[in-house]
Amino acid sequence: MSLEAEYERVSLPLEHPFTIARGTQEFAENVVVKVHDGEGNTGVGAAAPSTHYGETAATVEAVLQPLLDVVERIDDPHNLARAERAMREVVERNPAARCAVSIALHDLVAKRADLPLYRYWGLDHADTVTSSFTIGIDDTETMREKTERAVEEGYGTLKVKLGTGRDEEILSTVRDAAPDATIRVDANEAWSPREAVRKIEAIEPYDVEFVEQPVPAENHEGLRFVRERSPLPIAADESCITLEDVPRIAGAADIANIKLMKCGGLREAKRMIHTARAHGLEVMLGCMVETNAAIAAACHLAPLLDYADLDGSLLLAEDPYDGVPMPAGLIDLEAVDHAGTGARQS
Ligand SMILES: [Mg+2]
Repeated sequence: MSLEAEYERVSLPLEHPFTIARGTQEFAENVVVKVHDGEGNTGVGAAAPSTHYGETAATVEAVLQPLLDVVERIDDPHNLARAERAMREVVERNPAARCAVSIALHDLVAKRADLPLYRYWGLDHADTVTSSFTIGIDDTETMREKTERAVEEGYGTLKVKLGTGRDEEILSTVRDAAPDATIRVDANEAWSPREAVRKIEAIEPYDVEFVEQPVPAENHEGLRFVRERSPLPIAADESCITLEDVPRIAGAADIANIKLMKCGGLREAKRMIHTARAHGLEVMLGCMVETNAAIAAACHLAPLLDYADLDGSLLLAEDPYDGVPMPAGLIDLEAVDHAGTGARQS
């Protein structure tokens, strides 16, 4: 069999500018990868590079051709282990670029088996979880309006971005606008360990589910310091990038926030999920601002999760791809009526 592969950069405007503790983003540049098997099946994936992890659409494009050359030399696309190993030998870093190819190959092999990806993996759609919807940092009144709109649209779990001098004001406003919602918060590394303990004590009365990445990524001792003093569970995101990070955050956090674009692919994400559980961590799957061509694949891991934050496509003004149906955040794998990830051009 001879596979053919291609890629295309897509520029995706956001519905609203998206602000977190370290900056604002108005559009997302993703790179869509397609792999054709010459028998009528095409696997689709995408890279959502993050400058925070050293990747841009340009760095993705710079390494995609060698990766796709590897793909075109594969004689059996179902041997995903060999494909992954061969890609890693050519490109060691650039996880978003490798991830785009990993997703496209998984989409392709599940299509060839004529099964939705979660069924190809043998997972139970009844074990799915509900994704949170993210409220980015904005002036407090706008955050109230965004919260009210999210509640009207039925979202029951909100993730509120923190990390400014207005953290308590923001949380009190969001809680007021969403009295019944589950609220989790994400400081994106903005606090020092001592400051984090104070901030968490101040926001605890607003009924917060957990606090994500309170301190800088590399400060594992600081993370442990916060966790030992925090009345709320602590999630590690920027501190938990690849498989090797999972044992490092065990004991310093309660929840591992795994992302495909950080770890480089679906098989690596599964290894991280099981490793996290073996270390007593709960598991969350997150995302970047990204097209359904990537998110749809992440959704098929939902039965393995405790928490999902897979709203990356919902933050876009429009997405060229439809993915897994997510009514009010519920990742509805049972409604996937296509083989593969379910991502298709809208
Ligand atoms: Mg985060």
